[in-house]
Amino acid sequence: MQVVQESGEIVETPLTEEDLRLTWNRSVCPYCGVGCGVLVGSKEGRVLKVRGNPNHPANFGLLCGKGATLPQMVHTPDRLTAPMMRATRTSDLQRVSWEEALQRVAVHWQRIIRDHGPDAVAFYISGQLLTEDYYVVNKFAKGFLGTNNVDSNSRLCMASAVSGYVTSLGADAPPGCYADIELADCFLLIGTNTAACHPVTFERIRRRKLGAPKRVKVIVADPRKTRTAEIADVYLPLRPGTDVALLNAMLHVIVREQLSTPSFIQRHTTGWDELQTVIDRYPPEHAARVCGLDAEDIRHAALLFGKANAAMSFWSMGLNQSTHGTAKNNCVINLHLATGQIGRPGAGPFSLTGQPNAMGGRETGGLAHLLPGHRVVVKEQDRRDVETLWGIPAGRIAPQPGLSAVELFRALASGSVKSVWIIATNPMVSLPNLGIAQQAMAKAELVIVNDIYHPTETTQLADILLPAAQWSERDGTLTNSERCISYVEQAIAPPGEALPDWEIICRFAKAFGVGEAFAFQRAEEVYEEYKSLTRGQDLDIGGVTYERLKQGSIQWPCPTPNHRSTMRRYTDGTFAHPDGKAQFLAHAYEEPAERTDEQFPIILTTGRVRDQWHTMTRTGKIPVLLRSEPEPFVEVNPEDATRLGIADGELITVRSRRGGARAHCRLTQAIRPGTCFMPFHWGSLRGAAVVNHATVEACDPVSKQPELKFCAVRIEKSLTSTVDSPPSTAKTHE
Ligand code: SF4
Repeated sequence: MQVVQESGEIVETPLTEEDLRLTWNRSVCPYCGVGCGVLVGSKEGRVLKVRGNPNHPANFGLLCGKGATLPQMVHTPDRLTAPMMRATRTSDLQRVSWEEALQRVAVHWQRIIRDHGPDAVAFYISGQLLTEDYYVVNKFAKGFLGTNNVDSNSRLCMASAVSGYVTSLGADAPPGCYADIELADCFLLIGTNTAACHPVTFERIRRRKLGAPKRVKVIVADPRKTRTAEIADVYLPLRPGTDVALLNAMLHVIVREQLSTPSFIQRHTTGWDELQTVIDRYPPEHAARVCGLDAEDIRHAALLFGKANAAMSFWSMGLNQSTHGTAKNNCVINLHLATGQIGRPGAGPFSLTGQPNAMGGRETGGLAHLLPGHRVVVKEQDRRDVETLWGIPAGRIAPQPGLSAVELFRALASGSVKSVWIIATNPMVSLPNLGIAQQAMAKAELVIVNDIYHPTETTQLADILLPAAQWSERDGTLTNSERCISYVEQAIAPPGEALPDWEIICRFAKAFGVGEAFAFQRAEEVYEEYKSLTRGQDLDIGGVTYERLKQGSIQWPCPTPNHRSTMRRYTDGTFAHPDGKAQFLAHAYEEPAERTDEQFPIILTTGRVRDQWHTMTRTGKIPVLLRSEPEPFVEVNPEDATRLGIADGELITVRSRRGGARAHCRLTQAIRPGTCFMPFHWGSLRGAAVVNHATVEACDPVSKQPELKFCAVRIEKSLTSTVDSPPSTAKTHE
C-alpha cells in the first residue's frame, strides 16, 4: 500500500504473508469526495487491512492517512447493534425490536401528517449515504409522504457549486476529470486546502508541478497559508470573502491583455457584453484594496492563467460556504469560459466535493429542491416524469422546494416542523449557530436517528435510534468528485441487527402502509429503478450495471451498454442550457452577511485539519490520527496577539454575537492579521470547543448554503484553565 505523508513522501507497505490469507473486496474510501478506490482485507467477519486499489482512476493505489486506517473505525465498542427507543422524552433509551421502533414512528408521523400536513415532518440525510439510500429516502418522502423536506449535510458543503454549475453551464457537475491534472499546466486553487482535505488529489497536483516546475504554474488564493500554498508560484492571501473581487480583477487583466478567446466566446457563450460592464470596474488596483492584496500579484496570477495552454481550477468550501457562494462559483467559471479553458484535455473548472457521495446525492435528488436524475421540483414536466415512474397520481409531488438544512432546523425550533429523521450525520456539531439546532432538538416531538455509533452529540438526543450498516458491511454505489461511479462490495456482515439505510426506509414504508412501492430485496434492484430515471437526462447511466461496475468505475453520462465512459463533458462546445450556450454571469463584489465592528473586530473562519474527518465520529477513535492535532486550537496572527496581549498557547475564547468557543491560541503568520481560524471537527462529547456555537447561519440566497467561512468575533482571554464548550441553553433529552 502507498500512503501519502504530510511531507509528500510516499510510504510503501509490502504485502505480508498474513495479507495473502485474507479475503479482499473492492470498495471506496468513505471519507472525502476524492473517492479513492480501496481493497478491503477481511477474515472471519472482521476487516483487518485496507490497501489502495492500484487500478482505481481516482488514486491508482495511493491513500492518505485517513484512508489507510479505515479498519480501525469498523469494530469499535460503541457500534450501535439494535434499535433503541425512549418510552417518553425523559426516560432512558431501551432496546426494542425493529417492528416496535418503526411502528411507533409510523403511528406518530401519521398523526402529525393528519393534523399538520406532510411538511410537518422532515429527513436530514448525508453525503455519507450510498446512492441507493439517497434514492429510497427521496422516493419515500417526495413521492409517498408528499413533502420535499429532504435535505442533506451536503447543503453545508457543495450546494453553491451545484447552483454555480447549473446557472453557468446549464447542468450540475464538473466537466472534467482527475486525469486532466496530468495534462494541465496551470492550476488555480482557490478556497481549498487541498493538501489537508483532498490529500490524494493534492499529491497528483504536487507531482505534476514538481515534474515540470518551470512549465506548470500554481496559483493559490486563501486567507490562510496552508501546506497547499507550498507549491504555489503565486500565493494570494486575500481578505476572507473577497473572492469575487479577485476573480473579476483576474478577468479584467485577461481581457485587457487580449488573452481571452473571442471565437469561443462568440460561438459558445452568452452574456459577454453584460459581463464587461462589471469587469471594467475591477482593475487590479481596485481589487487589491478590496482583497488586501498586491495589485502586481493579482496581475501575475491573471497572466499565468490567461497564458496557460490548459488551466484547471479547484475549489471547495472556501468558495461554497458563503452568502455569495453561487456568485463565486460563477466567477471561476467565467474565467474558464473567457479563455476557452473548458471541455478539452487538462482544462476546466473542478469543484471538489467534501463527502464521498455528495455527487450521488445530487444525482438522486438528495436536496430539498431536487428530484432524481437532476430534475427539480419546481418544473411540472420533471414532477410528471418522476410521478409516472413511481406509479403515483399526477400532482402528488409538491411543486415547491422543501426546507434546506438551516431552514429545517429553524422550522423545528419554531415548531412548524414537528419531527425529524436524521440519517448518517451529526448536525449537533456541524450546523452553524448551534444554539438554534439545540432549540430545534429540544422542541421536536420525535427525533429519529440512524447511525452506526452511539453516543454522538446527535444520537444522544434521539427518541428512536436505529442501527445502520456501514462501510464494508453492505453493497451499493457512489459517485466521486469527477462523476465517477464505483461499486462498493460487502466484505463482512453488519453487527447485530444493523441494516443498510435503504432497507430501514423500506421497512418503514411497509409499516407506513406503502410497502409495495418499496419491495426491494437487494441494493441492485434499487439502483436499477433509480437508473431508469436517468434515461435521456444529462447524467444518463442507462449503460451502467452492477456487473459493469464490478469490472471498473465509470464516469457518467454512459447511456448505453457499449458506451465506455465520459471523461469530459462539453467537448464540442455545446452546453446544457436550452440554447446550447454557456452563460457569463456578472457579479459585483458584495460584503459577507456579518460585518466586523468595534465589539467584534476579528473575522473567524473555520475549516478542517488533515487527519480528522467531519465531526470525528470515525477518525476521532483512531489514535494515530489524533496524534497530529490532539485538541482544537485557534490560529491567531502575532500582530493581533500583541495588540490583545495574548501569548502562544494561552487559553482564549472566540466569541461572536451568538456564542463562543474556547481553545488554546496558536500564533502563526499563516493567518492574515484581523482573521482567526478554528477547525470545526471537535464536539461537546469530547469536552472540546465547539466552534459552531459562534458561526452564523446566514445563507446564499440561491444555494441556501450557510456562511461557515465568515463571522465577526472578538478574542477574549479565558479566566479558567479548562478547554470546553460554552454551556448549552437548550434542554437535552438525557
Ligand atoms: Fe482518498 Fe479522501 Fe479517503 Fe484520503 S480521505 S484516502 S484522499 S478518499
